[in-house]
Amino acid sequence: MRDHVEPLRQPRVYLETYGCQMNIADSQTVTAVLRRAGYVSTDRAEDADVILLNTCAIREHAEERVLGRLSDLARLKNRRPELKLGLLGCMAQHNRAALLEQAPWVDVVAGPDAYRRLPEMLGGFDPAVDVRLDRAETYADISPAHEGGVRAYVTAMRGCDKFCAFCVVPYVRGRERSIPPADLLREIGALAERGAREVVLLGQTVNAYRYEATDFAALLRLVARVDGIERIRFTSPHPADMSDSLIDAMATEPKVQPYLHLPVQSGSGRVLAAMERGYTVDEYLALVERLRAAIPALALSTDIIVGFHGEEERDFEATLALMRAVQYDHAFTFKYSVREHTRAFKLGDTVSEEEKGRRIAAVIALQESISLERNRASIGRVYPVLVEGPARRGGGMLAGKTPQFKTAVFAAGEGVRPGDTIGVRVDSASAHTLVCSQAQP
Ligand code: SAM
Ligand code: SF4
Repeated sequence: MRDHVEPLRQPRVYLETYGCQMNIADSQTVTAVLRRAGYVSTDRAEDADVILLNTCAIREHAEERVLGRLSDLARLKNRRPELKLGLLGCMAQHNRAALLEQAPWVDVVAGPDAYRRLPEMLGGFDPAVDVRLDRAETYADISPAHEGGVRAYVTAMRGCDKFCAFCVVPYVRGRERSIPPADLLREIGALAERGAREVVLLGQTVNAYRYEATDFAALLRLVARVDGIERIRFTSPHPADMSDSLIDAMATEPKVQPYLHLPVQSGSGRVLAAMERGYTVDEYLALVERLRAAIPALALSTDIIVGFHGEEERDFEATLALMRAVQYDHAFTFKYSVREHTRAFKLGDTVSEEEKGRRIAAVIALQESISLERNRASIGRVYPVLVEGPARRGGGMLAGKTPQFKTAVFAAGEGVRPGDTIGVRVDSASAHTLVCSQAQP
Protein backbone atom coordinates (compact mmCIF):
# COMPACT_ATOMS: atom_id res chain seq x y z
CA MET A 1 0.00 0.00 0.00
CA ARG A 2 1.31 3.49 -0.89
CA ASP A 3 1.66 6.07 1.89
CA HIS A 4 -0.82 8.91 1.73
CA VAL A 5 1.20 12.10 1.08
CA GLU A 6 -0.30 15.37 2.34
CA PRO A 7 0.11 18.09 -0.27
CA LEU A 8 2.51 20.79 0.95
CA ARG A 9 0.62 23.88 2.12
CA GLN A 10 1.84 27.05 0.46
CA PRO A 11 3.02 29.64 3.01
CA ARG A 12 0.68 32.64 3.27
CA VAL A 13 1.99 36.20 3.28
CA TYR A 14 0.22 39.32 4.48
CA LEU A 15 1.71 42.63 3.30
CA GLU A 16 0.80 46.08 4.62
CA THR A 17 2.03 49.19 2.81
CA TYR A 18 2.72 52.67 4.24
CA GLY A 19 3.72 55.88 2.46
CA CYS A 20 3.87 56.92 -1.15
CA GLN A 21 2.83 55.46 -4.51
CA MET A 22 6.34 54.15 -4.97
CA ASN A 23 5.96 51.99 -1.90
CA ILE A 24 2.68 50.63 -3.26
CA ALA A 25 4.49 49.77 -6.50
CA ASP A 26 7.37 48.20 -4.53
CA SER A 27 4.88 46.05 -2.61
CA GLN A 28 3.67 44.70 -5.94
CA THR A 29 7.28 43.76 -6.78
CA VAL A 30 7.66 42.08 -3.37
CA THR A 31 4.45 40.11 -3.96
CA ALA A 32 5.75 38.98 -7.36
CA VAL A 33 9.09 37.88 -5.84
CA LEU A 34 7.33 35.89 -3.13
CA ARG A 35 4.80 34.29 -5.50
CA ARG A 36 7.68 33.06 -7.65
CA ALA A 37 9.05 31.42 -4.50
CA GLY A 38 5.74 29.64 -3.78
CA TYR A 39 4.04 32.03 -1.35
CA VAL A 40 0.37 32.98 -1.67
CA SER A 41 -1.14 36.29 -0.54
CA THR A 42 -3.73 36.65 2.21
CA ASP A 43 -5.81 39.68 3.26
CA ARG A 44 -5.86 38.64 6.91
CA ALA A 45 -2.84 39.10 9.19
CA GLU A 46 -4.31 36.44 11.55
CA ASP A 47 -4.09 33.77 8.81
CA ALA A 48 -0.58 34.60 7.66
CA ASP A 49 2.66 32.64 8.09
CA VAL A 50 4.61 35.78 7.18
CA ILE A 51 3.63 39.39 7.94
CA LEU A 52 5.51 42.15 6.14
CA LEU A 53 5.25 45.91 6.68
CA ASN A 54 6.54 48.04 3.80
CA THR A 55 7.42 51.27 5.56
CA CYS A 56 7.96 55.01 5.04
CA ALA A 57 10.63 57.17 6.72
CA ILE A 58 9.78 60.56 5.26
CA ARG A 59 8.54 61.99 8.59
CA GLU A 60 8.80 60.90 12.21
CA HIS A 61 5.04 60.49 12.36
CA ALA A 62 5.16 57.81 9.63
CA GLU A 63 7.75 55.87 11.63
CA GLU A 64 5.74 56.14 14.85
CA ARG A 65 2.71 54.58 13.15
CA VAL A 66 4.76 51.58 12.08
CA LEU A 67 6.29 51.17 15.56
CA GLY A 68 2.74 51.13 17.00
CA ARG A 69 1.69 48.49 14.49
CA LEU A 70 4.77 46.41 15.32
CA SER A 71 3.74 46.32 19.00
CA ASP A 72 0.28 45.00 17.98
CA LEU A 73 1.92 42.32 15.88
CA ALA A 74 4.21 41.32 18.76
CA ARG A 75 1.08 39.93 20.48
CA LEU A 76 0.31 37.76 17.47
CA LYS A 77 3.89 36.54 17.42
CA ASN A 78 3.70 35.69 21.14
CA ARG A 79 0.76 33.42 20.42
CA ARG A 80 2.39 31.90 17.33
CA PRO A 81 6.19 32.04 17.65
CA GLU A 82 6.64 30.39 14.21
CA LEU A 83 5.07 33.48 12.57
CA LYS A 84 7.71 35.50 10.69
CA LEU A 85 7.62 39.29 10.90
CA GLY A 86 9.46 41.42 8.37
CA LEU A 87 10.07 45.13 8.05
CA LEU A 88 10.69 46.40 4.52
CA GLY A 89 11.41 49.67 2.81
CA CYS A 90 12.62 53.11 3.79
CA MET A 91 12.30 52.81 7.56
CA ALA A 92 14.13 49.49 7.52
CA GLN A 93 16.91 51.23 5.66
CA HIS A 94 16.85 54.38 7.78
CA ASN A 95 16.84 53.09 11.31
CA ARG A 96 17.67 49.42 11.41
CA ALA A 97 19.76 49.53 14.59
CA ALA A 98 17.17 51.46 16.62
CA LEU A 99 14.44 49.30 15.16
CA LEU A 100 15.99 46.02 16.14
CA GLU A 101 16.49 47.42 19.62
CA GLN A 102 12.87 48.59 19.92
CA ALA A 103 11.32 45.57 18.21
CA PRO A 104 13.67 42.62 18.73
CA TRP A 105 10.89 40.20 17.70
CA VAL A 106 11.28 41.25 14.04
CA ASP A 107 12.76 38.40 11.94
CA VAL A 108 13.64 40.15 8.71
CA VAL A 109 14.76 43.71 7.92
CA ALA A 110 15.06 44.41 4.18
CA GLY A 111 15.81 47.75 2.51
CA PRO A 112 14.37 48.78 -0.90
CA ASP A 113 17.19 47.10 -2.85
CA ALA A 114 17.02 43.76 -1.01
CA TYR A 115 13.62 42.41 -2.09
CA ARG A 116 15.07 39.83 -4.47
CA ARG A 117 16.62 38.07 -1.48
CA LEU A 118 13.44 37.98 0.61
CA PRO A 119 12.60 34.28 0.06
CA GLU A 120 16.08 33.32 1.26
CA MET A 121 15.89 35.68 4.23
CA LEU A 122 12.46 34.35 5.25
CA GLY A 123 13.62 30.76 4.87
CA GLY A 124 16.47 31.07 7.39
CA PHE A 125 16.29 30.33 11.09
CA ASP A 126 18.11 33.43 12.33
CA PRO A 127 17.01 37.05 12.07
CA ALA A 128 18.17 38.40 8.70
CA VAL A 129 19.08 41.97 7.82
CA ASP A 130 19.89 43.23 4.32
CA VAL A 131 20.02 46.97 3.86
CA ARG A 132 22.72 47.20 1.19
CA LEU A 133 21.89 49.82 -1.40
CA ASP A 134 22.58 48.55 -4.89
CA ARG A 135 23.08 51.06 -7.70
CA ALA A 136 22.28 48.37 -10.26
CA GLU A 137 19.02 47.06 -8.79
CA THR A 138 15.99 48.07 -10.87
CA TYR A 139 13.90 44.86 -10.62
CA ALA A 140 13.44 45.34 -14.38
CA ASP A 141 13.03 41.57 -14.94
CA ILE A 142 10.32 41.19 -12.30
CA SER A 143 6.75 41.82 -13.39
CA PRO A 144 5.01 43.41 -10.37
CA ALA A 145 1.76 41.78 -9.16
CA HIS A 146 -0.58 44.59 -10.27
CA GLU A 147 -4.02 44.49 -8.74
CA GLY A 148 -5.87 45.10 -11.97
CA GLY A 149 -8.13 48.07 -12.48
CA VAL A 150 -8.26 50.94 -14.86
CA ARG A 151 -5.18 52.82 -13.57
CA ALA A 152 -1.77 51.16 -13.18
CA TYR A 153 1.28 52.62 -11.46
CA VAL A 154 4.61 51.66 -13.05
CA THR A 155 8.02 52.52 -11.58
CA ALA A 156 10.15 54.15 -14.29
CA MET A 157 13.12 55.14 -12.16
CA ARG A 158 14.35 54.45 -8.64
CA GLY A 159 16.31 56.52 -6.12
CA CYS A 160 17.15 60.21 -6.05
CA ASP A 161 20.33 62.26 -6.58
CA LYS A 162 18.95 65.63 -5.49
CA PHE A 163 19.75 65.55 -1.75
CA CYS A 164 17.36 68.31 -0.67
CA ALA A 165 18.51 69.34 2.82
CA PHE A 166 15.36 68.08 4.59
CA CYS A 167 14.86 64.78 2.82
CA VAL A 168 15.86 61.26 3.72
CA VAL A 169 14.95 59.68 0.36
CA PRO A 170 18.43 59.64 -1.26
CA TYR A 171 19.80 57.93 1.87
CA VAL A 172 17.13 55.25 2.08
CA ARG A 173 16.41 54.64 -1.61
CA GLY A 174 19.90 55.20 -2.97
CA ARG A 175 21.05 56.82 -6.19
CA GLU A 176 19.05 57.44 -9.33
CA ARG A 177 18.66 54.61 -11.84
CA SER A 178 16.25 54.24 -14.73
CA ILE A 179 14.50 51.11 -15.96
CA PRO A 180 15.22 50.27 -19.63
CA PRO A 181 12.44 51.51 -21.94
CA ALA A 182 12.02 48.06 -23.50
CA ASP A 183 11.16 46.55 -20.07
CA LEU A 184 8.74 49.38 -19.29
CA LEU A 185 6.98 49.07 -22.65
CA ARG A 186 6.64 45.30 -22.23
CA GLU A 187 5.16 45.81 -18.76
CA ILE A 188 2.77 48.54 -19.88
CA GLY A 189 1.68 46.50 -22.92
CA ALA A 190 0.85 43.56 -20.65
CA LEU A 191 -1.10 45.86 -18.31
CA ALA A 192 -3.12 47.23 -21.23
CA GLU A 193 -3.99 43.67 -22.26
CA ARG A 194 -5.26 43.04 -18.74
CA GLY A 195 -7.55 46.09 -18.88
CA ALA A 196 -5.45 49.08 -17.73
CA ARG A 197 -6.38 52.24 -19.65
CA GLU A 198 -4.28 54.75 -17.74
CA VAL A 199 -0.65 54.44 -16.72
CA VAL A 200 1.12 56.57 -14.09
CA LEU A 201 4.91 56.53 -14.43
CA LEU A 202 6.61 56.76 -11.04
CA GLY A 203 9.92 58.02 -9.71
CA GLN A 204 11.11 60.29 -6.90
CA THR A 205 12.32 62.67 -9.63
CA VAL A 206 10.65 60.89 -12.52
CA ASN A 207 11.56 63.53 -15.09
CA ALA A 208 15.27 62.91 -14.39
CA TYR A 209 14.65 59.59 -16.18
CA ARG A 210 17.39 58.73 -18.67
CA TYR A 211 18.30 55.38 -20.13
CA GLU A 212 21.05 55.66 -22.76
CA ALA A 213 19.60 58.06 -25.37
CA THR A 214 16.03 57.96 -24.02
CA ASP A 215 15.13 60.88 -21.77
CA PHE A 216 11.78 61.34 -20.06
CA ALA A 217 10.17 63.25 -22.94
CA ALA A 218 11.16 60.46 -25.34
CA LEU A 219 9.85 57.85 -22.88
CA LEU A 220 6.44 59.57 -22.76
CA ARG A 221 6.24 59.44 -26.55
CA LEU A 222 7.16 55.74 -26.55
CA VAL A 223 4.53 54.91 -23.92
CA ALA A 224 1.95 56.84 -25.98
CA ARG A 225 2.41 54.26 -28.74
CA VAL A 226 1.24 51.38 -26.54
CA ASP A 227 -2.12 50.17 -27.83
CA GLY A 228 -4.91 50.20 -25.28
CA ILE A 229 -3.31 52.87 -23.06
CA GLU A 230 -5.44 56.00 -23.39
CA ARG A 231 -4.06 58.22 -20.64
CA ILE A 232 -0.53 58.83 -19.37
CA ARG A 233 0.42 60.62 -16.16
CA PHE A 234 3.60 60.77 -14.07
CA THR A 235 4.72 61.70 -10.55
CA SER A 236 6.74 63.38 -9.05
CA PRO A 237 8.61 65.60 -11.45
CA HIS A 238 11.26 67.96 -10.05
CA PRO A 239 10.93 71.60 -11.16
CA ALA A 240 14.66 71.78 -12.06
CA ASP A 241 14.25 68.89 -14.54
CA MET A 242 11.24 70.27 -16.46
CA SER A 243 12.95 70.53 -19.86
CA ASP A 244 11.45 72.25 -22.92
CA SER A 245 11.25 68.90 -24.67
CA LEU A 246 9.19 67.50 -21.77
CA ILE A 247 6.81 70.47 -21.82
CA ASP A 248 6.53 70.00 -25.58
CA ALA A 249 5.72 66.28 -25.17
CA MET A 250 3.02 67.17 -22.62
CA ALA A 251 1.57 69.81 -24.93
CA THR A 252 1.58 67.79 -28.13
CA GLU A 253 1.07 64.15 -27.11
CA PRO A 254 -2.71 63.81 -26.66
CA LYS A 255 -2.45 60.81 -24.32
CA VAL A 256 -0.37 62.79 -21.78
CA GLN A 257 -2.93 64.34 -19.47
CA PRO A 258 -3.00 68.06 -18.54
CA TYR A 259 -2.10 67.62 -14.89
CA LEU A 260 1.21 68.13 -13.13
CA HIS A 261 2.26 67.65 -9.51
CA LEU A 262 5.05 70.19 -9.19
CA PRO A 263 6.38 70.30 -5.61
CA VAL A 264 7.49 73.80 -4.59
CA GLN A 265 8.05 73.22 -0.81
CA SER A 266 8.29 76.95 0.04
CA GLY A 267 7.55 80.37 -1.45
CA SER A 268 10.51 82.00 0.29
CA GLY A 269 13.75 82.34 -1.69
CA ARG A 270 15.77 82.19 1.54
CA VAL A 271 14.10 78.94 2.65
CA LEU A 272 14.33 77.38 -0.82
CA ALA A 273 18.07 78.08 -0.81
CA ALA A 274 18.44 76.57 2.68
CA MET A 275 16.45 73.55 1.49
CA GLU A 276 18.90 73.24 -1.44
CA ARG A 277 16.02 72.73 -3.87
CA GLY A 278 17.94 73.92 -6.94
CA TYR A 279 15.54 76.67 -8.11
CA THR A 280 14.53 80.17 -7.07
CA VAL A 281 10.98 81.46 -6.59
CA ASP A 282 11.25 83.44 -9.85
CA GLU A 283 12.45 80.38 -11.77
CA TYR A 284 9.57 78.34 -10.39
CA LEU A 285 7.01 81.01 -11.30
CA ALA A 286 8.50 81.36 -14.79
CA LEU A 287 8.21 77.58 -15.20
CA VAL A 288 4.52 77.69 -14.21
CA GLU A 289 4.00 80.43 -16.79
CA ARG A 290 5.73 78.41 -19.54
CA LEU A 291 3.67 75.34 -18.64
CA ARG A 292 0.37 77.22 -18.70
CA ALA A 293 1.23 78.92 -21.98
CA ALA A 294 1.98 75.53 -23.58
CA ILE A 295 -0.87 73.59 -21.90
CA PRO A 296 -3.79 75.97 -21.24
CA ALA A 297 -5.98 73.28 -19.61
CA LEU A 298 -3.24 72.34 -17.12
CA ALA A 299 -4.13 71.61 -13.49
CA LEU A 300 -1.33 71.95 -10.94
CA SER A 301 -0.77 70.46 -7.51
CA THR A 302 2.18 70.81 -5.16
CA ASP A 303 3.89 69.81 -1.92
CA ILE A 304 4.47 72.44 0.79
CA ILE A 305 6.52 72.10 3.95
CA VAL A 306 5.89 74.55 6.81
CA GLY A 307 8.29 75.21 9.67
CA PHE A 308 11.58 74.25 8.04
CA HIS A 309 14.69 75.26 10.00
CA GLY A 310 14.91 79.06 10.11
CA GLU A 311 11.46 79.70 8.55
CA GLU A 312 10.26 83.06 9.88
CA GLU A 313 6.86 84.67 9.67
CA ARG A 314 7.85 86.60 6.51
CA ASP A 315 9.01 83.35 4.83
CA PHE A 316 5.72 81.70 5.68
CA GLU A 317 3.83 84.74 4.33
CA ALA A 318 5.84 84.35 1.11
CA THR A 319 4.57 80.77 0.81
CA LEU A 320 0.97 81.98 1.14
CA ALA A 321 1.69 84.67 -1.47
CA LEU A 322 3.11 82.10 -3.87
CA MET A 323 0.04 79.91 -3.42
CA ARG A 324 -2.20 82.89 -4.23
CA ALA A 325 -0.09 83.69 -7.28
CA VAL A 326 0.02 80.15 -8.69
CA GLN A 327 -3.55 79.13 -7.80
CA TYR A 328 -2.87 75.41 -7.37
CA ASP A 329 -5.74 72.98 -7.82
CA HIS A 330 -4.53 70.92 -4.88
CA ALA A 331 -1.70 70.91 -2.31
CA PHE A 332 -0.19 68.27 -0.04
CA THR A 333 1.04 69.96 3.13
CA PHE A 334 3.58 68.79 5.69
CA LYS A 335 4.97 70.03 8.99
CA TYR A 336 8.76 69.90 8.83
CA SER A 337 10.13 66.82 10.54
CA VAL A 338 13.86 66.67 11.34
CA ARG A 339 15.33 63.50 9.83
CA GLU A 340 18.55 61.84 10.87
CA HIS A 341 21.24 61.56 8.14
CA THR A 342 19.92 64.56 6.18
CA ARG A 343 21.95 67.74 5.66
CA ALA A 344 19.50 69.76 7.75
CA PHE A 345 19.61 67.30 10.66
CA LYS A 346 22.37 69.13 12.53
CA LEU A 347 20.54 72.46 12.17
CA GLY A 348 17.67 71.18 14.30
CA ASP A 349 14.15 72.54 14.65
CA THR A 350 13.61 76.29 15.09
CA VAL A 351 9.81 76.44 14.76
CA SER A 352 7.72 75.09 17.63
CA GLU A 353 5.20 72.32 17.06
CA GLU A 354 2.43 74.74 17.98
CA GLU A 355 3.59 77.32 15.44
CA LYS A 356 3.93 74.64 12.74
CA GLY A 357 0.34 73.68 13.55
CA ARG A 358 -0.82 77.27 13.08
CA ARG A 359 1.05 77.63 9.80
CA ILE A 360 -0.15 74.35 8.31
CA ALA A 361 -3.76 75.19 9.25
CA ALA A 362 -3.45 78.52 7.42
CA VAL A 363 -1.94 76.82 4.34
CA ILE A 364 -4.71 74.21 4.28
CA ALA A 365 -7.46 76.83 4.71
CA LEU A 366 -6.05 78.95 1.87
CA GLN A 367 -5.73 75.93 -0.42
CA GLU A 368 -9.28 74.77 0.35
CA SER A 369 -10.64 78.14 -0.69
CA ILE A 370 -8.56 78.20 -3.90
CA SER A 371 -9.53 74.59 -4.76
CA LEU A 372 -13.18 75.37 -4.17
CA GLU A 373 -13.06 78.47 -6.36
CA ARG A 374 -11.24 76.64 -9.16
CA ASN A 375 -13.62 73.68 -9.03
CA ARG A 376 -16.67 75.98 -9.02
CA ALA A 377 -15.29 77.67 -12.13
CA SER A 378 -15.71 74.34 -13.93
CA ILE A 379 -19.48 74.17 -13.26
CA GLY A 380 -21.31 73.82 -16.58
CA ARG A 381 -18.22 72.52 -18.44
CA VAL A 382 -18.03 69.08 -20.02
CA TYR A 383 -15.06 66.74 -19.44
CA PRO A 384 -14.13 63.28 -20.67
CA VAL A 385 -13.94 60.99 -17.63
CA LEU A 386 -12.32 57.57 -17.49
CA VAL A 387 -14.78 55.51 -15.44
CA GLU A 388 -13.07 53.69 -12.52
CA GLY A 389 -15.92 52.11 -10.56
CA PRO A 390 -18.54 52.82 -7.88
CA ALA A 391 -18.20 56.15 -6.08
CA ARG A 392 -17.34 56.00 -2.38
CA ARG A 393 -20.54 57.90 -1.54
CA GLY A 394 -22.53 54.96 -2.98
CA GLY A 395 -26.09 55.57 -4.14
CA GLY A 396 -25.41 53.87 -7.48
CA MET A 397 -23.03 56.71 -8.45
CA LEU A 398 -19.84 56.02 -10.42
CA ALA A 399 -16.49 57.78 -10.06
CA GLY A 400 -13.59 58.61 -12.34
CA LYS A 401 -11.02 61.29 -13.04
CA THR A 402 -11.13 64.21 -15.43
CA PRO A 403 -7.98 64.80 -17.52
CA GLN A 404 -6.98 67.29 -14.76
CA PHE A 405 -7.06 64.42 -12.22
CA LYS A 406 -10.13 65.77 -10.44
CA THR A 407 -12.54 63.27 -8.96
CA ALA A 408 -15.88 63.31 -10.78
CA VAL A 409 -18.92 61.45 -9.41
CA PHE A 410 -21.93 60.87 -11.61
CA ALA A 411 -24.96 58.69 -12.27
CA ALA A 412 -24.35 56.92 -15.55
CA GLY A 413 -26.65 55.28 -18.04
CA GLU A 414 -27.04 51.52 -18.50
CA GLY A 415 -24.03 49.73 -19.86
CA VAL A 416 -21.35 52.21 -18.68
CA ARG A 417 -18.42 50.12 -17.37
CA PRO A 418 -15.06 50.78 -15.69
CA GLY A 419 -12.55 51.49 -18.45
CA ASP A 420 -15.08 53.41 -20.60
CA THR A 421 -14.51 57.10 -21.26
CA ILE A 422 -17.70 59.13 -21.10
CA GLY A 423 -18.54 62.82 -21.18
CA VAL A 424 -19.80 64.45 -17.98
CA ARG A 425 -21.08 67.95 -17.26
CA VAL A 426 -20.19 69.50 -13.87
CA ASP A 427 -23.36 70.37 -11.94
CA SER A 428 -21.85 71.34 -8.58
CA ALA A 429 -18.44 71.26 -6.92
CA SER A 430 -16.75 71.04 -3.53
CA ALA A 431 -13.03 71.63 -2.92
CA HIS A 432 -12.34 67.94 -3.63
CA THR A 433 -15.11 66.58 -5.85
CA LEU A 434 -17.03 67.49 -9.00
CA VAL A 435 -20.64 66.27 -8.97
CA CYS A 436 -21.62 65.67 -12.58
CA SER A 437 -24.21 64.23 -14.93
CA GLN A 438 -23.58 62.32 -18.12
CA ALA A 439 -23.23 64.47 -21.26
CA GLN A 440 -21.78 64.27 -24.74
CA PRO A 441 -18.02 65.00 -24.65
N1 SAM B 1 10.67 63.77 -4.97
C1 SAM B 1 9.59 64.58 -4.69
C2 SAM B 1 10.01 66.03 -4.87
O1 SAM B 1 11.14 66.37 -4.92
O2 SAM B 1 9.15 66.86 -4.89
C3 SAM B 1 9.01 64.37 -3.32
C4 SAM B 1 9.13 63.07 -2.65
S1 SAM B 1 8.75 63.08 -0.94
C5 SAM B 1 8.40 61.39 -0.75
C6 SAM B 1 7.16 63.80 -0.80
C7 SAM B 1 7.10 65.06 -0.01
O3 SAM B 1 7.37 64.82 1.35
C8 SAM B 1 8.11 66.12 -0.38
O4 SAM B 1 7.79 66.83 -1.55
C9 SAM B 1 8.09 67.02 0.84
O5 SAM B 1 7.11 68.01 0.72
C10 SAM B 1 7.72 66.04 1.96
N2 SAM B 1 8.87 65.82 2.84
C11 SAM B 1 10.05 65.25 2.55
N3 SAM B 1 10.88 65.29 3.63
C12 SAM B 1 10.19 65.89 4.62
C13 SAM B 1 10.51 66.24 5.97
N4 SAM B 1 11.69 65.96 6.51
N5 SAM B 1 9.56 66.85 6.71
C14 SAM B 1 8.35 67.15 6.18
N6 SAM B 1 8.00 66.87 4.92
C15 SAM B 1 8.91 66.24 4.14
FE1 SF4 C 1 13.63 64.13 -1.50
FE2 SF4 C 1 14.42 66.27 -2.89
FE3 SF4 C 1 14.82 63.79 -3.87
FE4 SF4 C 1 12.33 64.80 -3.74
S1 SF4 C 1 14.05 65.60 -4.96
S2 SF4 C 1 13.01 62.76 -3.11
S3 SF4 C 1 12.41 66.00 -1.87
S4 SF4 C 1 15.76 64.66 -2.05
